[in-house]
Amino acid sequence: MKIHEYQAKALLARFGIPVPRGEVAFTPDEARAAAGRLGGRVVVKAQIHAGGRGKGGGVRVVAGPDEAAQAAGGMLGSLLVTPQTGPAGRTVGRLLIEEALDIASELYLGLLIDRESERLAVIASAAGGMEIEEVAVATPDRIHRQAVSGSGLQAFQARELAFRLGLTGSVALKAAGVMVAAERAFRDLDASLVEINPLVVTGDGAVQALDAKVTLDDSAYFRHAGHAELRDPAEEDPLEVEASQHGLNYIRLDGTIGCMVNGAGLAMATMDIIKLAGGEPANFLDVGGGASAGQIRQAFRMLLSDSRVKAVLINIFGGILRCDVLAEGVIAAVRELDVRLPVVVRLEGTNVEEGRAVLLGSGFDFTTAGTMDEAATHAVALAAG
Ligand code: GDP
Ligand code: MN
Repeated sequence: MKIHEYQAKALLARFGIPVPRGEVAFTPDEARAAAGRLGGRVVVKAQIHAGGRGKGGGVRVVAGPDEAAQAAGGMLGSLLVTPQTGPAGRTVGRLLIEEALDIASELYLGLLIDRESERLAVIASAAGGMEIEEVAVATPDRIHRQAVSGSGLQAFQARELAFRLGLTGSVALKAAGVMVAAERAFRDLDASLVEINPLVVTGDGAVQALDAKVTLDDSAYFRHAGHAELRDPAEEDPLEVEASQHGLNYIRLDGTIGCMVNGAGLAMATMDIIKLAGGEPANFLDVGGGASAGQIRQAFRMLLSDSRVKAVLINIFGGILRCDVLAEGVIAAVRELDVRLPVVVRLEGTNVEEGRAVLLGSGFDFTTAGTMDEAATHAVALAAG
């Protein structure tokens, strides 16, 4: 789950990482009041779950409360398009009003899981700020890496990294302190990404996180009271939000074949085989190993609410979920939701004969398939026709 910058900063501050003073604002009046409390020049920052805001006009440094309110009025409710949002952009619903800093230099600090070394990696660069992607491509030697072992990032490793960035004296020590704290935050929060870009050195030698991006691992919610409240449904695909409320694992894609599958592995294989047959899946949908009739119905509702779907492919391996129960669920959903799209069903596993009999006896014109190949070929042809 992605969270907003102001939420990420609040989390990182708990681990001792210095962040600018700031307040969240939902209206121009709140922005004015916040700017008044902060005093002096402030930065008005659009809060969306995407970066590159500086390049899209989503970060404005202004002189005081009135200018803050004016900038807020322009941003709130508007569509912000940045290099990371895609052309559709994101609607700005909230702002972070922050004290403006006197920036001497911008560093980059990122922590992520490096699947190759199977470790946490700390990535740092002296060339932080809005051009970091270009830096990584053009001058990769300016990006420094440190793999972290099970005992965490050690102080000496962090200092070494800070020295490789060209930092010296107390600034190097402060930056190293931020690195160690960020690595602790990453582990304690069950994050999958912590990125501070830029980590700034100010004119008076302070080190502060000017921007923060934290992605939290959804599977670790149960270990963190409070993480669930950080969710902003306005930033998420409505269908994905609905799916998670019903315990379904749904990810929207761009094709025309709606897929209803149990088990993530089978769902991936189904998407592959649709592509092999020349089609494109409209979604990834894992209804889980023990889906109930209610969940099947809900899954169908979601597939049908996507107008791009031209055919539905149901690929179920009945283990805990029995094929006859699945078939009953499908029929109930098709009847209730008045499904007019072609539906291809491929069943295998527990009670498969009973399941097929239920489908055939239903009076609906399902296309049944014995193999995945056959199912995909039928679905692709029906979606095209
Ligand atoms: P992003 O573009 O979405 O990554 O947004 P950032 O929060 O990283 O801000 C983009 C850029 O705005 C930073 O790299 C800074 O150059 C600039 N910026 C942000 N806050 C301040 C500030 O307080 N003072 C000054 N002078 N520049 C700022
Ligand atoms: Mn940034």
